Amino acid sequence: TRGGGASAAPEALEVLGRVFGYDAFRGDQAEIIDTVVAGGDALVLMPTGGGKSLCYQVPALVRPGVGVVVSPLIALMQDQVDALSALGVRAGFLNSTQSPPERRAVEQAFVDGDLDLLYLAPERLRVPETLALLDRGTVSLFAIDEAHCVSQWGHDFRPDYLRLSVLHERWPDVPRIALTATATRTTHAEIAERLDLTRARHFVASFDRPNIRYRVVAKANPRAQLLELLRTEHPGDAGIVYCLSRSSVEQTAEHLVAHGIPALPYHAGLDARVRAANQSRFLREDGIVMVATIAFGMGIDKPDVRFVAHLDLPKSVEGYYQETGRAGRDGQPSTAWLAYGLQDVVQQRRMIDSSEGDAAHRRALSAHLDAMLALCETVECRRVQLLAYFGQESGPCGNCDTCLAPPETWDGTVPAQKLLSTVVRLERDRGQRYGAGHLVDILLGKETPRVTQLGHTSLTTFGIGSDLTDTEWRGVVRQLLARGLLGVDGDGYGTLCLTPASADVLAGARTVALRREAARPSRAARTR
Ligand code: ADP
Ligand code: ZN
Repeated sequence: TRGGGASAAPEALEVLGRVFGYDAFRGDQAEIIDTVVAGGDALVLMPTGGGKSLCYQVPALVRPGVGVVVSPLIALMQDQVDALSALGVRAGFLNSTQSPPERRAVEQAFVDGDLDLLYLAPERLRVPETLALLDRGTVSLFAIDEAHCVSQWGHDFRPDYLRLSVLHERWPDVPRIALTATATRTTHAEIAERLDLTRARHFVASFDRPNIRYRVVAKANPRAQLLELLRTEHPGDAGIVYCLSRSSVEQTAEHLVAHGIPALPYHAGLDARVRAANQSRFLREDGIVMVATIAFGMGIDKPDVRFVAHLDLPKSVEGYYQETGRAGRDGQPSTAWLAYGLQDVVQQRRMIDSSEGDAAHRRALSAHLDAMLALCETVECRRVQLLAYFGQESGPCGNCDTCLAPPETWDGTVPAQKLLSTVVRLERDRGQRYGAGHLVDILLGKETPRVTQLGHTSLTTFGIGSDLTDTEWRGVVRQLLARGLLGVDGDGYGTLCLTPASADVLAGARTVALRREAARPSRAARTR
């Protein structure tokens, strides 16, 4: 439901205008606020930028007592408190960055009822004194921000979030509101279960971000492709570039700076002061490009981020949605751009195979990756696919790459069979480690030193794939990997192997429609 502003309690509307300077509630805000003001529990699923903060800030100001906000975003607490203070809201926080005197001052203010909002790092709940402290004051509500951190299969799991069940056990009469922007059906159910909010009112907003244009391109030379994107479509714009590794963050930032783009690095390996300085420059100055690992961005409220670029494949659709969601919070047209290639698939499958944890954990990681790959390889509207992942139905959007330039498909059954039969032949040669490149060399009939040395020129499939280019073959490998028709061996080298589904393709029992790659062969070559 949208625009239910009129139904809010008069006190809530009064606070909205007087304190925050807004004249109407957005979307479900009014109903959520009414629920909490009346003492009810709420679980709120709303995309980034949807306006979750007001959902607990307004009730905290309307109800007597102090609103206690549990948030994992310690680095942002000072900023949040400063922003509220500037509006005349009495706010404080308790986390590990404070000196004991600072902490005592905030605790005293809480007990005296001199606060409207108290932000609390989840690890504070480990300390019995914190619970005793909460008993000494009056709590108006508990807000659990970033509630998906309670999900053990999610990418932001915080063990301390599991302790949050203590809140309603110890203070059953205090209303609770849990909020998150990450919400597949599974995460939703898990939050409700673990936080004992199954009987709470659930508010699920639309996850569509219509002003974001989604695009996935085949990765060739990612830094050059990125530079091209920034120069042609986003000159002078602020944006975020996500990379998987710290070294790639630094190299990419240097590359952009060398080409005249004001880029800054951000990753967990940088000194805390450097990180804070870079973050604040990004927030305060215009046109800064932040090159970062996923350590950057949670809770960042910069309205005019014009693009989010991924140079590496995100590990899950949830992660991708959250990261791209940082673009265009002001509602203006923005770009979500992802460069994705064969090596991404191989690397991530390998990482999953060698990851810690039991088989169930690996299966969960694998399912996350598969959904992300399906989004990358889809020939349908990306937004339809993305929203479907969050359990929401929609029609073709007209504002994503596949809607704007529908990809052609072609019958790749024969190339797939050629490729898989080469894998079969190489599998007989156990102990050999080779990646996709070697496989493609064999199909193209290239007498590289390695092909010759291993005697692979005598394979019956040597040279049978000269009708496709190197790029196209890599595309075939990538798409077969993405669909689970080809696998990556657990040997840690990225050696390709068959999967149970490969047999159907080899037996001709299954056709394989492939997405046409950008550089394609002539029609004559294709039909050969
Ligand atoms: P979220 O936490 O869901 O990502 P925020 O609470 O940070 O979103 O809100 C995003 C932006 O929208 C903020 O700048 C906020 O001030 C603004 N906003 C939220 N609710 C309203 C409203 N009812 N009217 C106008 N602006 C709003
Ligand atoms: Zn679309």
